[in-house]
This record gives sequence, structure tokens and C-alpha cells, in this order.
Amino acid sequence: MSGLLHESCIIHHILDNFKSMVIETKTRYIPTDSIEPSRLMCSGNVEITQSPEIWQQLSNQYGVPVGEILYIDLNRSGIRLPNNEVRVNYRARFIATVDPEENTRTWFALPVRGEGDTYFSTSDGHLRFQDQVLANTGQIYLDTCDVSYQRGPRLLNLNSRSRGNCGGCTACVHNYKDFYDVTVLRDQQKLMTRNDIEAFFDQKEATGLDIASLQQIAVVTGLFGREAAVVKHMRMITETVRPRGFAGELMYFGCEVNSEEALRQLSQLGKFALVYAIDNFTKRAELLAKRKSSISIDTARDTLNKARKYGIATTFAYIAGIDSLSAMEQGFNTLRDSISRFPVVNIFQVQTPGQLSAMEAAAKKLEYYVKARRSIEGILAQTGLKPRRWENYRPLWYTLYNDQPLPANTFGD
Ligand code: SF4
Repeated sequence: MSGLLHESCIIHHILDNFKSMVIETKTRYIPTDSIEPSRLMCSGNVEITQSPEIWQQLSNQYGVPVGEILYIDLNRSGIRLPNNEVRVNYRARFIATVDPEENTRTWFALPVRGEGDTYFSTSDGHLRFQDQVLANTGQIYLDTCDVSYQRGPRLLNLNSRSRGNCGGCTACVHNYKDFYDVTVLRDQQKLMTRNDIEAFFDQKEATGLDIASLQQIAVVTGLFGREAAVVKHMRMITETVRPRGFAGELMYFGCEVNSEEALRQLSQLGKFALVYAIDNFTKRAELLAKRKSSISIDTARDTLNKARKYGIATTFAYIAGIDSLSAMEQGFNTLRDSISRFPVVNIFQVQTPGQLSAMEAAAKKLEYYVKARRSIEGILAQTGLKPRRWENYRPLWYTLYNDQPLPANTFGD
């Protein structure tokens, strides 16, 4: 491909560059003296679990096994690192063997908390609650924001438009430009042109990535700014990896593709999946970047229906902890018949006072998440859809869904 770009491409290229330069940030929250960053959960009046009794009580009340509630609680609470491998409020990533008999391993990426802000801790190869060992863990890493990462040997995620450079959503850590530093933000190299993408995969292949064995290449990144830019990007990836033997699924995680024509074009690229980034149902204008909040839930539903018509696998991504439970239920009912895959439901994890201001009051209690789990199971029961463990590292389901065992493969099928 020659380095020269045609005029229209130059304009689009400049537009792409210009658009990605306009970083919208939302400064909805006004930090109050009461919020201490080192004790975010406590000073934010988030319920801190101090005894496992609450797990048993909720288990009896909602019929959800203690083991599931424990991991929901871990993901909402965060972790303390007595050896300070990672700074407070940054995130720590590690793999834990949650079921030694089955040798079930899963990975966690958790906010790090200060003393007394959580009673989950990890040190010397063990995940603990108070002094009780829950699982064996591998090495603790700083969770960084890179151009790409792999959830498993056959799963590749591309952060082509630098989430670190994005902003505008109150619940998103990238909205707070004074928070992360270069130790975390390692995604400044964008994959803008065909040459960028070719060079990226050349480098990946040179370091051992077997593109032909990949099950999925997922584009999970910041805003592109235009629908056409997304379609162009997905096409360039396809043109780069198909000749290298890629026969898997290409996935777009976002909300910037809504027109029939764009969806038709994406469906021509081979196996394709759309994970529509809904985030929340009722606080969109208040909490989301304008580009996202300008899209109504009805538009999202119509897009999912159109995508399905073209044979695209469809679902949506949602953050549990921002809407009221009744609003969540209404939203799931609205989108239930427009999806062919189980939604990606993330537990809301906060690292900044700003994010905390987006949390639904009821979501400051563990019970909210257990109720959400049961509600969603009820709403989606007739669909036959089940969560895919490897799609989500902060889910509401770990080994069981609707009382049925879930395949525990967290590194891909
Ligand atoms: S669009 Fe995505 S990456 Fe950008 S601020 Fe919102 S949630 Fe974060």
C-alpha cells in the first residue's frame, strides 16, 4: 500500500486525527473534603464487608452460592496489597487458582485499596479475606493500558484509538486526566493507518503470535469520532489479518456504528460481532460523553436488530452499579430480544472520587449486585443465553448461572 493518501483520505485522516485530539472530559463531580482518595470506599460510604456472614445471609436470601457472592464482593471491593506492589487506587492484575481440585484459574484486575478500605488482600501467593486463604495467586502486576492485550492465547484485544486519550464519561477512569501516569498509560501509539496495522501485526508475529489460531480479534478502545472511521478501521484489520490466516471473529465494542449501510459493510468482513456499549440506561446525558449520550436506547435496540439481520452476532455491554435496579430491569427487557449473545455485565469498580459520584446509592451495598444477578437471570431465562466467562473479568457469574454450571474457561474456548 503506497504511503500516499488520496485527498478524501487525507481529509478523513486529518478529521480522524483532529477528532481524536478533541478530548471531552466530564467534571461533574465536585470533590468534597469528605472523600479521601486513600480511603475511597469508606469515605464514599460504600459498604465494606468485614465478616463472611453477609455472604451466607445473602446466599440464604437469594439462593446464590457463597462462593459466587464472595467473588462478586471481591470485584466490587478491590484488594489491599500489604507489600505495596501497586499504588492505592491504581489497579492490580493477577491470576488466581480459585478451585485447586479443578485447577480452575481465573484472572482478576482489581482496584488497590488502602488499609481498612477492604478486607480482601493478596500477598505471598495467597488471596485472603481477613486471615482466611481463598485462593493461590500468581505474580501481582500493575494493570496497564496498552495498545493491545490478550485475555488468552487465542483472544486479542486492540486498543486502536487509545482509551488513555479518551474522556467524557464520568464512570470511566480515563475521564480523569490527572489520575493515571505513564507507568499505566502505554497506549499512545494509535493504529490509524493500514501501515500502522501491518506494522503492528508484523511485530506481533515476530514475537510469536499465531494469527491463524486466534479465535477473536476485538477492538475495545476510545471513541473514533465518526462511524466511517470505525468501518474503515475494521476493514483495514480484516485486510491485514485474513491473508495471515485469521479465520476467527472480528468484534467491535462500541456504539458509533448505527447505520444500515455501515452494518452491511461490517457484515461483509467475515465472522463479525457487535458488543454495543450501553454502559447505563437512565443517566446517559448526565454521565456519558456527548457522542454516546446522544444515542438513545431505542436507537441502540434498532442497531442491534439491523445487525442481526446481516448475520452479525449481537449483544451489549453494561456497568452494574450506575442505574437503579428497576431501571436496569427495564433496560434489559428493552434489549432482550435484540441480542444473540449474553450481555457483558461489568461490576462497577471505582478508582477516583469522580467515578464514585456516578454510583447508584443502592449499589454501595453488596446486596445490590446479588439482586442484579438474580434479576438478569430472570429476564434472560427464556433466551437460553449464558455468560461466557472469558469475555468479562469483573462479572456477576463465576461458576454458576441460573443454578446451572458455567464452563469455567476464563482464557477462551
Ligand atoms: S468513550 Fe469509553 S474510553 Fe472514552 S471516556 Fe467513555 S467509557 Fe471511557
